Amino acid sequence: MNNMSEKSNEANHVKYWQHHGAKTNRNMKYALCDRGVERELKIIIIICYACPWNGTYNDYLDHLQELHADLECIDCHEHFFAINSFEEHREEVCVHRSIPCGLPNCMNLIKWYDMKAHYLTDEHQHKLIIIILEYNNPKRYKLQIQNYCEFIKKEFNDIQETIAVTFSVYEILLNNFAHLKIEEQEIKTNFEKNFSKIDELKKYDNENEKALKELSESYNSIQIQIESIKKLREESLIQILDNNSTTTLRFNYPNISSFSFQSIKFRTSQYGHTFSLRACSTIDSQQKYLSIFLTLHNGEYSNLIPYPFLYTIYLTLWDQSNQQKHIEYVLKPNPNSTAFIRPTSEKNDEFGIMKFCSLEYLTDPKSIYVRDGAFFIRVFVDFLNTGQNPFQSKDNDDDDNVAIMSTTKMMTE
Ligand SMILES: [Zn+2]
Ligand SMILES: [Zn+2]
Ligand SMILES: [Zn+2]
Repeated sequence: MNNMSEKSNEANHVKYWQHHGAKTNRNMKYALCDRGVERELKIIIIICYACPWNGTYNDYLDHLQELHADLECIDCHEHFFAINSFEEHREEVCVHRSIPCGLPNCMNLIKWYDMKAHYLTDEHQHKLIIIILEYNNPKRYKLQIQNYCEFIKKEFNDIQETIAVTFSVYEILLNNFAHLKIEEQEIKTNFEKNFSKIDELKKYDNENEKALKELSESYNSIQIQIESIKKLREESLIQILDNNSTTTLRFNYPNISSFSFQSIKFRTSQYGHTFSLRACSTIDSQQKYLSIFLTLHNGEYSNLIPYPFLYTIYLTLWDQSNQQKHIEYVLKPNPNSTAFIRPTSEKNDEFGIMKFCSLEYLTDPKSIYVRDGAFFIRVFVDFLNTGQNPFQSKDNDDDDNVAIMSTTKMMTE
């Protein structure tokens, strides 16, 4: 058969050259040649190598497949009649074939389609690590390598444990998450319920705001009224000198050795100058004294009256025992003193009468100046410049030359 086909090839070849008598390339030549062989094979009668069958080449292929394909792949049960095809199938084609892993110490046969999974198995990775370690440290003792492997294994186990823990935590979190979801839903529904209430409340709020505004307005007006009432009250508290040009200021005295008491205001006439007194304890050279401070206040009628205030003022610590043992001080204001000029603010600086008397006159348990927890300072303004004190007092001296700090006559003991 071989001889025949070769000869016929040759003949075809020659025929071609004779027929065309032209130049052509080699490929064309061979293509033509194969087609020729095929055509001849269809004509030739072939006898089966194993049985008495004979027929054309095409039929022969079918015959072989039907009757003599007794090579079977044990993995996929496909049949083959040619050893070449069978071997090719077993080695390269069959998807069910088992092949060795390829690692020198990984001797298992693995299904072709499992190979990728096998590469990722712990066993294969472990053996791969050993090979890498051996390659990197060829002179190391196997024991060392094994120890190292053990170490790595341990690490691996630890990681696995960590993963397990993480997963359990994750599960807990998942549970919590589910709970939270439920709570969220509840909150949502509550929120929606409340939302309608909020709308209602908003309405009320608006109404309240109005009411609040009204309240605030009336509060302000009340505040203004209170202020004016306060002023009126203050005005009503101001004492006005009596027909004798005197007034009496009461001081509560709780029997303490260090104090400062402010008196109420007094006015020299209905539209006159406004004063107040402060009685306080002072110390000089370890001696304690009662000192009196006089303050000239700005008043509503300040613009109508003359300044500076120049009338003589008599101040008397009153003897409450009826013995007329009053302690007196005569004050002749100095025209240059800032205490008595026209006030430019609420009040002028105080004018101090230091050491009015020894504090003992008050602190003495048998004091004639303190009775029932109170002492009195009486004031006389000498508008007519009589030089006469209306308060009866013994030994009231002549005080005509009194300077601003001026004369004080202690009464006789
Ligand atoms: Zn046959
Ligand atoms: Zn197969
Ligand atoms: Zn392997």
